[in-house]
Amino acid sequence: MNTFDNIAAPATGIGGAVSIIRISGPDALAIGRRVWRGRRELGPESRRELLLGRVGIDSALAVFMPGPASYTGDDVVELHCHGGQSAADQALRSVFAAGCRLAEPGEFTFRAFVNGKLDLAQAEAVNDVISAGSDLALRIAEKQLDGVLSRRLEAAYDELNALRAECESHLDFPDEELAWEPDVPARLEALTAQLRELYDTRDIGGALRDGVSVVLAGRPNAGKSSLLNRLLGYERAIVTPIPGTTRDTVEAQTVICNLPVRITDTAGLRESADPIEQMGVERSRKSIAAASVTFWLLDASGGELEAELAEMERADAVNRIAVWNKIDLVPERALPELPCPAVRISARTGAGLDELREAFAVMVAKSPRPAVPEVAVNARAARLLAEALELLPEATARFREEEYELAAIGIRTAMNRVGEITGKTVEPDILDNIFSRFCIGK
Ligand code: GDP
Ligand code: ZN
Repeated sequence: MNTFDNIAAPATGIGGAVSIIRISGPDALAIGRRVWRGRRELGPESRRELLLGRVGIDSALAVFMPGPASYTGDDVVELHCHGGQSAADQALRSVFAAGCRLAEPGEFTFRAFVNGKLDLAQAEAVNDVISAGSDLALRIAEKQLDGVLSRRLEAAYDELNALRAECESHLDFPDEELAWEPDVPARLEALTAQLRELYDTRDIGGALRDGVSVVLAGRPNAGKSSLLNRLLGYERAIVTPIPGTTRDTVEAQTVICNLPVRITDTAGLRESADPIEQMGVERSRKSIAAASVTFWLLDASGGELEAELAEMERADAVNRIAVWNKIDLVPERALPELPCPAVRISARTGAGLDELREAFAVMVAKSPRPAVPEVAVNARAARLLAEALELLPEATARFREEEYELAAIGIRTAMNRVGEITGKTVEPDILDNIFSRFCIGK
């Protein structure tokens, strides 16, 4: 990516009522003036004002946003054309003819990063905002874009830098001449605790960004498809009293307690001579292995509780919630104690569904009502924080042992890891990797 030339791309998706073409670069204004004509002149006096005019034969609005106060930090001109591909295409062709090239995916945001408008954590949040799968995910992404995470990381970086300097001063001067700083280890520990708190948001961050995969497992006829329909609020799966109806896996998306969820309904797990049903059972086992949470359905009204429980124990399902179903048929029945979270529901009446949702939220987000966390780090930030968290206790111990050189090296390395999250210290290929995941126009 070249940061000094002129780039343009549609900034809106196809199919809206208006297509916005964004031009960014040192000659954005000149290019805008070449392709757009109106009664008033596009220029410094018209900054941030939408002007009425034309591009070719189509009417179009134009606005000039001088750098550095624009999104990218460059001079920016936006042309607001009619929706529909032909008007936008025609405007874009004139813009290219006037001396722009098509922006690469993420290039506008990359420029904003290079020009210091956004740090790397904020730039990543731009992408998160676009792909947010739930209301909660969107609100976290917006906070990150606002700089909530960045400010915490900046503060940690500065503190690490101060502590590193403290260590190095112990190297330069023998101890007896130095005003002893007794609180360096305590400050290192406090900082480590803060970084760990950020690191601990990675699960909720992953759940919000990617959705939680839930698999419905259990014997045929336990009520998996009925529960799926309940959770979705509409009829997605076929429910019949004939065991083995759901022969293949069915997938659907929903939101449970604010968490975006991908649910897979599996074929029942049972031995069968039917080869198609056998394939379904095999797929069920694979889905269970891949899911992050399993709802294991048990027929509370059935006569084979022990056999069903044994099957549940045999399957190596992770994060299992035992769901006693059909409780409407046996409201008073005493059910065995289980080593995992268990709820009693009726997929038929809807009883117990809220308890199931809460048990799920507690398992995934450690809370029955996941609130908007201030921050939730993504996988890249979590990996860098993990590296810093491995280094810091060791560096603290080295400082206590008066091995200041080793302590300083550890702190400096941890500081660079933290700096990588916001992009203070980052390799170009990592930047490429991050920005290439954006779509064109962002
Ligand atoms: P699956 O094979 O595990 O997907 O089970 P289904 O959802 O297809 O349900 C099997 C049968 O059990 C159907 O006849 C459902 O109507 C019935 N069923 C499911 N849940 C309940 C429930 O909570 N109470 C009662 N009484 N019947 C249920
Ligand atoms: Zn089914």
